[in-house]
Amino acid sequence: MKCPFLKDTVVRTCDLSPVRKMIPTSSISEESQRCSTPEFKSCPVAEDQFEGQSALSSCPHLCESMVQHCAAQSTTQFIPYNNDLLSRCNSDAHRYCTLYLQRAYPGSDSGAQPPNGGHQEIGGGRMAETIPATPARLQFSRNHMWLDIAPDGTCHVGVDAFLARVLGQVDSATFLPDAEERRPSVILNINGTDLRLTFPRRLNITGCNYRLRSHPETLTEDPYGNGWLFEGQVSKCEANSEGAGEEMLSGDKARRWIEDEMDRLSDFVHSRLSRPNQTDEVLVADGGVAAPQLAQNLDRDELLQLFNLFFTLR
Ligand code: SF4
Repeated sequence: MKCPFLKDTVVRTCDLSPVRKMIPTSSISEESQRCSTPEFKSCPVAEDQFEGQSALSSCPHLCESMVQHCAAQSTTQFIPYNNDLLSRCNSDAHRYCTLYLQRAYPGSDSGAQPPNGGHQEIGGGRMAETIPATPARLQFSRNHMWLDIAPDGTCHVGVDAFLARVLGQVDSATFLPDAEERRPSVILNINGTDLRLTFPRRLNITGCNYRLRSHPETLTEDPYGNGWLFEGQVSKCEANSEGAGEEMLSGDKARRWIEDEMDRLSDFVHSRLSRPNQTDEVLVADGGVAAPQLAQNLDRDELLQLFNLFFTLR
């Protein structure tokens, strides 16, 4: 499905003009239709060329073509018509375009409105107290990454809200799209420590979210929207094949698993990170659950322990 902000327009151009100016046919008034009428001969550019050719009813140098433009942009920029389903605007990939997210969900804070496209969300209960609801269409790997496969086979990969809550903030993201036999990886840097996160399934990656290089905070502020990591293509048989990779969780199964992960994290904080004679406020929030941005308050060894336990593939 193409982006609702992508508009098709017919434009006219003059191939004699030194400047290629595109004029939408819809904006040309009846009175100014000189180029498509016999009146074109009064045009100073055409008059020399067509002197004596009175049979012509319109200028042969008048060209009409189909172009597209993004109605979400503040200035209109026409681009040649492109029916390539792999392009972002012409495919389901538009759901992760920054402009689309801003216009489709106006007024929502970053991360507050996942691009769920009206689909049911999973969440509620204990999850609602700690992490935002999750778009139900997502599948989750057990190292807290998500996969979103659109009907046209476009797919996106990102991190889940559990990981975003635990890390709090990353300082940089370095992409390794073809690492480990087509399993895409990203190296996240937190307080000087590099942590490698690898998606467990093989994918044909076609793009990375390079915006995260200049805005790494988006990864954890908007994990289900602008904080996506990789874009790719999955064939139908790959998506359903048992050999495609490790089990992915969705729906109620995913919700129960995330709740169990929250319990496991609280156990980890209480059993591995207890610090005698020190206040544990930075580690434990109300109700005994692990505090948000836990990773920011750990030393390097503790951070590696945490990452190995929850976010690495086994
Ligand atoms: S740039 Fe973004 S908002 Fe504009 S048409 Fe393309 S996908 Fe849609």
